[in-house]
Amino acid sequence: MDCKEFNSLILDFLHDRLDEMKLSEFLSHIEECEDCRDELRIQYLIYEGLERLEAGATFDVDKDLADLMQLQRKRLSSRQGIKMTAIASEIITTAAFVIVLFVVLFYQ
Ligand SMILES: [Zn+2]
Repeated sequence: MDCKEFNSLILDFLHDRLDEMKLSEFLSHIEECEDCRDELRIQYLIYEGLERLEAGATFDVDKDLADLMQLQRKRLSSRQGIKMTAIASEIITTAAFVIVLFVVLFYQ
């Protein structure tokens, strides 16, 4: 992902509209790219900060943004974990089927 694409996805990120692939690319880009970190911070400040201030709530952009990133990372890794479990159980089912088939054919 380049900076241009990253910038075009910031709003989707803040609205939680990125799919797994994009979210994963988004999160790794932000770790490498300081410019985009700043850009995300500014957009987050505008998007979330104004809303919070209007509601009279406190807002700590750095802490809240860090929390959001943490939450998204966790969400991403748990989603990947679920997928891995599904793949593993599919492999086991297929292997069991092949073994049963082999035994049936072999003993006929
Ligand atoms: Zn960048």
